[in-house]
Amino acid sequence: MNEFRADLHCHTTCSDGTLTPEQLIRAAEQKGLNGLSITDHDTVEAYATAVSAADNAGISLVSGAEFSAVLGKTGVHILAYSFSPLSPVIREFCTKHIRRRKGRNEQILSLLAAKGMPVSDEDIAKHTGLFTHTIGRPHIALAMMHKGYVSSVQEAFHKYIGEGKPCYAPGGYFTVEETLETIRRANGLAVLAHPHLIKKTDIIDELLRMNFDGLEAYYAGFPAEQNERWVKIATRKNLLPTGGSDFHGDIKPGNQPGSSWTNEETFKILHRHYAGNQPHVL
Ligand code: AMP
Ligand code: ZN
Ligand code: FE
Ligand code: FE
Repeated sequence: MNEFRADLHCHTTCSDGTLTPEQLIRAAEQKGLNGLSITDHDTVEAYATAVSAADNAGISLVSGAEFSAVLGKTGVHILAYSFSPLSPVIREFCTKHIRRRKGRNEQILSLLAAKGMPVSDEDIAKHTGLFTHTIGRPHIALAMMHKGYVSSVQEAFHKYIGEGKPCYAPGGYFTVEETLETIRRANGLAVLAHPHLIKKTDIIDELLRMNFDGLEAYYAGFPAEQNERWVKIATRKNLLPTGGSDFHGDIKPGNQPGSSWTNEETFKILHRHYAGNQPHVL
């Protein structure tokens, strides 16, 4: 493959993916990817092992994370890039998110128990790894499937724990503004994740008026005509048009690393910013 490709949206076992950071890097290498960012939900723990693994594989790495936020009552995902993985600002924010998730997950589990579908922490632990830092709804969905309450992860989300469903609990949250402000303080870059999935146009309009550096215009193997809309908006608003697969491993099969990617020009901007934030050696 000659064309430069960087997948800037991938999850590992540090959150709800099924490959470890090292396994993900090997998979990216096998796909012939040149650049990568690991964007686990609300954690940067993958970088403890990913930095040297990417170095050994000859893959150019940019730091990343995918933060959950809300705008009003709508959940919004924000990709942060190019900060130092050792940034205390980012690390404290991740710690706050772990606390938020703990409370939120407890609420979801009580709603499930009230519907006669008890799920314990031990049930969930069967579906997380030694290095899982953020426990999310996919882990709860796997436990529900294992206990025979649903026949697929999809069904768990669709019937019970998806946004707005009977056993969904928003829990504590951080707003989009707070999240953007935190990313700025860490000297990172903020990219609006998968705008393709946001259905309400008023929410999109409001988000596009906010202080983002980029827009995830190429997403998860979406067809070119659907990405084109976002590429045009990114160009018009002077936002970096990033791309990534949202790879999660077996939990979301059919979505392979590199199914969407960022081009060399955009990647270089993110990488330069990352390199400028490296006073530390990991
Ligand atoms: P959480 O971060 O715990 O709120 O869980 C959100 C994650 O669940 C998303 O990032 C996806 O990985 C996954 N997810 C959301 N909706 C669905 C769905 N309908 N089916 C399967 N996985 C989903
Ligand atoms: Zn996920
Ligand atoms: Fe997301
Ligand atoms: Fe994601």
